Amino acid sequence: MIVEMRNDADDRDVEEVCAALRAVGGTPRLIRWAAAQRLVVSADLKCAPGGLTDRAGVRRVVQPSGDFCLTSREFHSAGTVVEVGGIGIGGSEFVVIAGPCAVESAEQLREISDAVTEAGAVILRGGAFKPRTSPYSFQGLGMKGLRLLDRRRRQTGLPVVTEVMQPEQVELVAASSDVLQIGTRNMQNFPLLKEVGRSRRPVLLKRGMCATVKEWLLAAEYVMAEGNPHIVLCERGIRTFETASRFTLDLTAVPIVRRHSHLPVLIDPSHATGHAYLVGPMTLAAAAAGADGVMIDVHTDRAAARCDGSQALRPAEFKALVADLERLLSGFDRKLARNPDGPGAAGSLVPGRAVQPPTRSAARW
Ligand code: PEP
Ligand code: MN
Repeated sequence: MIVEMRNDADDRDVEEVCAALRAVGGTPRLIRWAAAQRLVVSADLKCAPGGLTDRAGVRRVVQPSGDFCLTSREFHSAGTVVEVGGIGIGGSEFVVIAGPCAVESAEQLREISDAVTEAGAVILRGGAFKPRTSPYSFQGLGMKGLRLLDRRRRQTGLPVVTEVMQPEQVELVAASSDVLQIGTRNMQNFPLLKEVGRSRRPVLLKRGMCATVKEWLLAAEYVMAEGNPHIVLCERGIRTFETASRFTLDLTAVPIVRRHSHLPVLIDPSHATGHAYLVGPMTLAAAAAGADGVMIDVHTDRAAARCDGSQALRPAEFKALVADLERLLSGFDRKLARNPDGPGAAGSLVPGRAVQPPTRSAARW
């Protein structure tokens, strides 16, 4: 159960709500939410104690019917728009994020960021800390890569998304980037989820390659339960018996997530498929399925890329794909997000696209 307190509720109002929940066996948890709002969550209580809604300082009581609390569409029926540098992820516009899998040098980052921006990308991706399957593979430039990303975002004004792998590095990565990426291998790294939850930076939470949608949304719940509501989900393929592609892109995740949760959802067709020739078709399919955007690997010299070259598009291929995407989106009355005129405040929560709210039974898992 979620008890949303009014902004003018005082500490005594909050304590009295907590006491009322404890009295019926609940374990209330106070969450400091965006815009000075406070929530009291007691996920173990399925029934509100009598008179709770009439208590001083209480705005409303929400009783989600499934396993999700703060991620549930029953809590926030309009979709969430996560704002990143003035670009809304989750609104009516489709957001294209692109860049190299890994930052390799200042020159490489400059060339690729110029090419992807010119083609229509509005957020730059690039890994500094790379979670590689083999310890002998390129591990990323680390701190040097982070400094290169930070310098590029300051030079161009382009927001940057980059992966953070350790709780101790969250503050540092948050100071040098605009979005904290949690990779597939860390989707259930709970100390890391809690630490990004304590940050105010938007979080791009990739789906674990062996995680169900329910486990993925519960991972998002960990971040939100620490008070950070600015989460963007990213489907990046799951492990199946199929070997023709690197993973199997689960496009059903898009409408499933949108039905149960108010959080925006992106697709990463590059890591999902592992092959450049599959990136275009899966990008278009993601847009048709209702995704809020895509994140695509682009490299100017695929053969020389130090990480995941086989799945990277060349700048010209990327540009042609963005043009196709724009044509497809127009059929759905949607547009590509464009660079905003001015910088916006990162991370504000505003109403998003309308979606059929789930029926109570549909929200059960
Ligand atoms: C990435 O986007 O750089 C990455 C490593 O992705 P994933 O965690 O999905 O493998
Ligand atoms: Mn990669």
